[in-house]
Amino acid sequence: MATQAISVDTLPSYNPATGEVVENISATHPEDLPAILASAKAAQEKWRETAIVDRCALLDRLRQIMLAARNDLAAIVVRESGKPHVEALFSDVFVSLDTAAYYAKNLPKLLRTERVPHHSSAAKLKSGRISYEPFGVIGIISSWNYPLAIPMGQIIAAIAAGNSVVCKTSDFTPKCGALIQEMFARVGFPDSLVNIVQGGAEIGQALIDARPDKILFTGSVATGRRVAESCARNLTPSVLELGGKDAMLVLADANLDVASSAALWGSFTNCGQVCLSVERLFVERGASEKFIALCVEKTKTLRLGPGSNPTTDVGPLIRPQHVQRMKDLLADAVSRGARILCGGNARPDLGACFFEPTVIADVNSSMGLFQGETFGPILAVQTVANSEEAIRTANDSPFALAASVWTADDERGRQIAARLRAGAVMVNDAISYFAIAEAPHGGCNASGWGRTHGRAGFLEMVQPKYVDVDGLAGKEKPWWYHYNGSLTHAADDFLNFEFGGLSAKLKYARGALKTFFRNHGFKKRPS
Ligand code: NAD
Repeated sequence: MATQAISVDTLPSYNPATGEVVENISATHPEDLPAILASAKAAQEKWRETAIVDRCALLDRLRQIMLAARNDLAAIVVRESGKPHVEALFSDVFVSLDTAAYYAKNLPKLLRTERVPHHSSAAKLKSGRISYEPFGVIGIISSWNYPLAIPMGQIIAAIAAGNSVVCKTSDFTPKCGALIQEMFARVGFPDSLVNIVQGGAEIGQALIDARPDKILFTGSVATGRRVAESCARNLTPSVLELGGKDAMLVLADANLDVASSAALWGSFTNCGQVCLSVERLFVERGASEKFIALCVEKTKTLRLGPGSNPTTDVGPLIRPQHVQRMKDLLADAVSRGARILCGGNARPDLGACFFEPTVIADVNSSMGLFQGETFGPILAVQTVANSEEAIRTANDSPFALAASVWTADDERGRQIAARLRAGAVMVNDAISYFAIAEAPHGGCNASGWGRTHGRAGFLEMVQPKYVDVDGLAGKEKPWWYHYNGSLTHAADDFLNFEFGGLSAKLKYARGALKTFFRNHGFKKRPS
């Protein structure tokens, strides 16, 4: 790739399972960002002219290269993020492959110019079309928890739309960032079209300050607020994919065996470090005892260990300080009346980042566990009287990312989904919609704004442009000056005709038509 940042420093690629620094990766110097942006801009100006069929061919080649390298990619994800290898395949690698496949196939349809039918009779003789133009350079700032799936999903959508990208991957996962850079180079995308910059907050800030045409940010609420403020100063539009506190509602008629397995996976996958983790579980009293017993029994069977071991179910947390946070959250909850039913301990015998998958009952909104993001392997349960209480309590949170409802009655599930404040609700499944290319992802309130994925996510990558061709090119418009009393009268008739009922249409049609056939008298001076 042409864009080679000058290395002034390195970032450690740290393995959370072993505590080892496995490799050092070159960091980008903040002062290089303006030049990187300028190269990306130049690359984008050519790329936007590249035929859609040629963009699709490159995306398909990217798919082929990633598919061939799938296990190597997964191994690096495991080494830097700690998750089990199978989770890296099902999440990071799957989403990257599927996004490439989706755009390679659907890009022509997504970018097709749309005809705009006009409902107003004043515009009937105009032909309107909307085309979708790229923004220019999209700045992407990513989190570490899905170090391939999140940046790859966003980069692919951005370049498919005709943008170039400067992406700051997380300083916790620099090797994954370097891999992404390598893959785009191997496919043969133009130089400087996809630029990975490496570093921490200072590089994220320098990227925003270099004024890309849009910022896509994925990360915590606290950083998101800073990013939104910096973007606002430059009037840079942004998408903010922030934290979640997703609720899982288990109704008494649910299949409790299935729902309890889902609760485990929803709370413990990626060691609970998922924006879409099940962080608040509400179970109806009628099913509570049996459901909680199943959760405890199944949690005890899970194997904690390094993600590189094929039989590991739950890997380590990302850094040792996150272990202390789990201890603090549990201590707070217990001091307020919650009960730990299994797990609840750090496992220094396995490594500094290991914490047991934990089930804790009698949790409520007074406890830290039900307030901020937990981002760890804790299944926190509250028993509720009924679904009304579950809906009310689920909605009582500053976060609004996603939720799930578990019931034997699909229609009831849909009705409850409609009442939950969230960007997505799954009935009888959790989290997996993130891997459905057509499903929009994103939330509101503390969970951020805008969308990634799906058509709504694609529309974040483009600017709609409306082009209008007039059908009466040889005629002056009635509203073009030399106003007078008869035009005022005709305008009044026109409004009655356009917005009145049928009898008004008949009564005012003639007067309204007059507006169209007026003589402006531009050739002579108005009296
Ligand atoms: P983080 O906020 O610490 O960091 C996110 C990114 O922002 C990193 O690349 C970081 O280096 C960068 N950054 C930090 N300070 C910055 C600044 N001042 N200016 C610009 N960039 C800056 O988050 P994290 O720990 O990497 O990720 C975990 C968080 O991300 C959780 O809250 C999780 O819920 C959220 N997340 C959300 C989604 C989603 O789609 N909604 C997906 C994954 C993760």
